[in-house]
Parts: sequence; C-alpha cells; structure tokens
Amino acid sequence: MKKTLIALSLASLCFAGEHGGNTQWGYEGSIGPKHWGDLSPQFIMCKIGKNQSPVDINIKDTVKACLKPIKFNYIADARYVVNNGHTIKVITTGQSYIVVDGKRFYLRQFHFHAPSEHTVNGKYYPFEAHLVHIDKNGNIAVIGILFKLGKENGELAKIWKNMPQQVGKKVALTSKVNPYLLLPKNKEYYRYSGSLTTPPCSEGVRWFIFKEPVELSKDQLAKFKKVMGFPNNRPVQPINARKILK
Ligand SMILES: [Zn+2]
Repeated sequence: MKKTLIALSLASLCFAGEHGGNTQWGYEGSIGPKHWGDLSPQFIMCKIGKNQSPVDINIKDTVKACLKPIKFNYIADARYVVNNGHTIKVITTGQSYIVVDGKRFYLRQFHFHAPSEHTVNGKYYPFEAHLVHIDKNGNIAVIGILFKLGKENGELAKIWKNMPQQVGKKVALTSKVNPYLLLPKNKEYYRYSGSLTTPPCSEGVRWFIFKEPVELSKDQLAKFKKVMGFPNNRPVQPINARKILK
C-alpha cells in the first residue's frame, strides 16, 4: 500500500513539474501565461483558481505568526541538469528532505526563474530558485529563494558548468551540489498557500519564501537568460482572501 502511494505521488509530481500533459505552453504569445487556462481543460485552475502563485509580498500586509523554523535534512544528492524549454531544472535522488507541519517533504528537483516570480513590495529580483518537495501523500511544499546581483554563487557555478544549452537535453552533474548551500544564512521566511506557477497551476501548495536574498553574479544571470531566451516568470496573481504569514 505504501509503495503504491509513493509511486502515485511521484507520477503527479512529474506531471505537475514538467509539461502538464502533452499540451504545449510557454511564456510568450498565444501560449503565454494569459492563455494557459484555455490551452487544456487540465489547466483550468490557471484561469479560475483563487489561490494562485506567484504573488506580491506586500510587507505591511503580512501577518505575524509563530512560524517554526523549517528543519533541513539536505545532502548533496543533486544528480542531473535538464533544459526542458521552460526552465533549467536540477534533479535529485530524493533523499534530501525538510520537515514542516510535522511532516517530511522530500526534495525532488529545483529550478530557476529570471526575473523572480514573487515580488516584494512590488519589486522584482533578477532571479529566483524554487526547491520543490513532496510528502508521501503527494502534498507539495516549495521553498523560494530570491537572488540579487553580487558575488558569484558557488553552488550555481557547479550547475551552470553542466547547463544544457539545448531544449530536451539532460546532463549529469560533474561536481557535488548540495542544495543547502543555496539557502541564505538567515532562514526566516514568509509563508502562504498557493499553487504551482506553471500549468496545471494546481493549488494547495505550501509556499515558503526566504526573507533574505542571496547573490549571483551578473555573468551567471546573463548565462541563464541567454540559454532560456525569454523571461520565464509567471506574472503575480491576486492575493484574494489569503494572508501571507511572517
Ligand atoms: Zn518555479
């Protein structure tokens, strides 16, 4: 029984994290974010959802809560880098996990957006990383890391070295990459309930966005943008009835 559950949740993550079935979608023109909800009945939440991501984090509207520290049990289990045409994605062996709400959420993949998807007081950061975790029941928790321009980022450098230029290509990482080293020193975060930021835009995603940004260099940002060829950020979505906790 347990095995079946895990297999099912993996399947749903692959569906959610990659292409959203066989329907083509993108960030520009007739298959861009404004049209996602019309491209497939499976993408309906992109259009009618009331708890969508990303959002603007308006600091004065955030609500003080006793948020517990996220427990990190990350190891250097990143293995492959994939260019799927929507992002550059790093695939792990799934041994790293976090504990939130008393449950283990396993890190399956992390990927990048330029510019950022979340904004803070209306301001975009040049770059954002999403660490996508899943628990044994298929619930998703995503950690968002905002990047500003500055020093070269050592962990990104190891990934960029193996970054496939061609869509559909998968390259094995030649250096050990530990996702823990991507995180900021200060682990305080904002939390809210949202969705996948790509089709099918499924809701019920636990979002954790670190307050402290980390750095990447101008060259690192330029390389990512050149390989992507377009901004791969979904515009911010209405907050509606939600509160962002801090
Ligand atoms: Zn993302």
